[in-house]
Amino acid sequence: MKITDIKFGMLRVPLKTPFKTALRTVNQVEDIVITMHTDSGHVGYGEAPATAVITGDTHGSIIEAIHKFIAPRVIGQEIANLNHITQLIQGALEKNSSAKAAVEIAVYDLFGQLYDAPLYKMLGGGDPVITTDITISVDYIDKMVADSIAAVDRGFESLKIKVGKDIGVDIERVKAIYAAVEGRALLRLDANQGWTAKQAVYAIQTLEDSGVRLELVEQPVKAQDLDGMRYVTERVHTPIMADESVFGPTEVIELIRMRAADIINIKLMKTGGISNAIRIADIAAMHGIECMIGCMLETSISVAAAAHVAVAKSNVITKVDLDGPSLCAFDPVDGGVTFNESEITVSNAPGLGIREIRGLEPIDL
Ligand code: MG
Repeated sequence: MKITDIKFGMLRVPLKTPFKTALRTVNQVEDIVITMHTDSGHVGYGEAPATAVITGDTHGSIIEAIHKFIAPRVIGQEIANLNHITQLIQGALEKNSSAKAAVEIAVYDLFGQLYDAPLYKMLGGGDPVITTDITISVDYIDKMVADSIAAVDRGFESLKIKVGKDIGVDIERVKAIYAAVEGRALLRLDANQGWTAKQAVYAIQTLEDSGVRLELVEQPVKAQDLDGMRYVTERVHTPIMADESVFGPTEVIELIRMRAADIINIKLMKTGGISNAIRIADIAAMHGIECMIGCMLETSISVAAAAHVAVAKSNVITKVDLDGPSLCAFDPVDGGVTFNESEITVSNAPGLGIREIRGLEPIDL
């Protein structure tokens, strides 16, 4: 099975409600989808969103990186040589982690198809059912409380609360939500870099002292501020998770060396795909550090790939934040991973098991 071509498309899916964080507001998913074609007729699928404020990737940069730098290296390669292909992808150019992720996802999809096995089995197997949390966007307190109650009523047992706007209001937001859902759902806070280290310590200690129990607080400080992250981690009981601060294995090693955080959030769009996500999971496991697997605003193509990784690495990926598909107004993908509210089920279809993508608009280059 040889790679013969990579084609591009744009996939647009409206969100059920606007996605609001300390960094941005988004109303629809708008992702680049690639189809990887082979001489055997098999097709692999990959996807990448433009998350300029986090990874620096834009639609234009994703297309250019794949079309001009990655595709020329991988076209003609045998899918059976998976490790060689992932090296070619990672070495094609610096950064551009989302573009690399899209291509790796398609390659791993084909790798599973080549051996007629679902991807998670190729990665070591596992229990094919996982449970995700859901994001509660940052908003007025009443709206966040109502959204949280609605999510719990839909069966979600973990809520990821977006904060990081105004420290005083953030504390009130969390207290109100905690009171409304106490005992029915675990709360994870994501500050998306919105606080300083001192503000974070103040906010988390205030919440701890008032009896609010949080499962974790994610990325309280700026991405580059590892010292600040360590400052917070050392001073609070609540586990601290690094997201924007860590992209690849090198940063994870540094973070662990510094003891700057307790948990690591793995996202394929930061790691540059599956090969480095697996490396990070293995490094973390060696050090007894738990991981979450997360996603950007992605549909059930790239999130399916993340689900397969989560299943295969469930020994260390103990927290799942793959709510991209459940934030979408509809699922454009007919495929092997079923996203039903909090429950994600991976089927035994080969690779990612994607049969059809509805509404994909071709991009001609
Ligand atoms: Mg985050």
